[in-house]
Amino acid sequence: NKLTNEELQNALSRFTLEGEVKSCSPYGSGHINDTFLVEAGRKYILQRINSEIFTKPRELMENVDLVCRFMTEEIKKQGGNPERESLQIIKTKDGSLYYEDEKKNFFRMYLYITDCKAFDLVEKPEHFYESAYAFGHFQKLLSDFPAEKLHETIPHFHDSPQRFQHFLKAVEEDKYDRKKDCEEEIQFFLSHEKDLSYALALLKKGELPLRVSHNDTKLNNVLFDANTEKALCIIDLDTVMPGLSIFDFGDAIRFGANTGAEDEEDLSKISLSLPLFSLYTKGFLEACGSSLWEKEILSLPEGAKIMTLECGMRFLTDYLQGDSYFHVKRPRHNLDRARTQIALVKDMEKKWTEMKEEVQKYLP
Ligand code: ATP
Ligand code: MG
Ligand code: MG
Repeated sequence: NKLTNEELQNALSRFTLEGEVKSCSPYGSGHINDTFLVEAGRKYILQRINSEIFTKPRELMENVDLVCRFMTEEIKKQGGNPERESLQIIKTKDGSLYYEDEKKNFFRMYLYITDCKAFDLVEKPEHFYESAYAFGHFQKLLSDFPAEKLHETIPHFHDSPQRFQHFLKAVEEDKYDRKKDCEEEIQFFLSHEKDLSYALALLKKGELPLRVSHNDTKLNNVLFDANTEKALCIIDLDTVMPGLSIFDFGDAIRFGANTGAEDEEDLSKISLSLPLFSLYTKGFLEACGSSLWEKEILSLPEGAKIMTLECGMRFLTDYLQGDSYFHVKRPRHNLDRARTQIALVKDMEKKWTEMKEEVQKYLP
């Protein structure tokens, strides 16, 4: 449902802004929230939070606030500029982190980060490196943050063993009589149950630490300095939760180092690019290698494999359950997606020694 001008004006009037509002217009290429650029005495970003996806806006904003305040202090300690290197929440006139109107629209305001650009696609390898560095730097800034203080706004988000149970149930029920189309794919995930529980088992044993994970590590969630084209700031903190560093890394590899598209039908186009894997590893670990545990560094390849397995298994689960979660544009779209993820895992398995050797280079 589209916002009316009245609703927008009302929302704008609730925040403490410098100067008079001169304009407010749709901005950027985000898909989840409605984003507006507000021009007043200075520039701001107003967002209506997508409350269908984020059902707990209060918890969400508390997470964003905790993380931004912590990063701000760290950036100040390092002599940086927190207004450009971290999101800054602008509170409402009554001191709240967001404004909820009568129609249950949830609005929040940030300072606009000036002289930046965002890229929707990796146009050159430097972008991939910079993005890795930025997400590594995010980990580094938050390395002393008590991650257990964050709300799990999407419970069990990367609980791969639980997702495996959901997958088993979908196979068993086979409500849409589709099991017959994907026996091999089902077998693949059944034979990888152990891999799926690797990281959470280490977390339980205390061999991997609980960290702040961003959970949406795509390129356009990094703002680049318009002049230097260096990564400057991580934005889009909606999915910030307690999690594992190797999952943020792993998901970025899953979608960023695949030589083919996520829904490619020609599986010969799917592979793990080792050069891109190395480049992302370099950027990530140059930024945060000194603050990660040795076991985290060594487990980065597992992070990539688990994220790919988990994602592929979710596609297959959705296929078996009649495509009710992921948006599909053709029959078997989810099955095709599951197949690309399987092909990618298989290629990682072929290149496993190289992947492990690559991360070992960064051990202290
Ligand atoms: P996604 O589809 O990635 O989930 P979203 O709908 O959650 O996106 P954001 O990523 O928060 O929205 O913002 C959309 C775009 O607006 C960003 O890609 C960026 O270009 C711009 N943007 C957001 N916040 C700021 C800010 N504080 N300063 C400058 N630009 C911003
Ligand atoms: Mg975004
Ligand atoms: Mg988002």
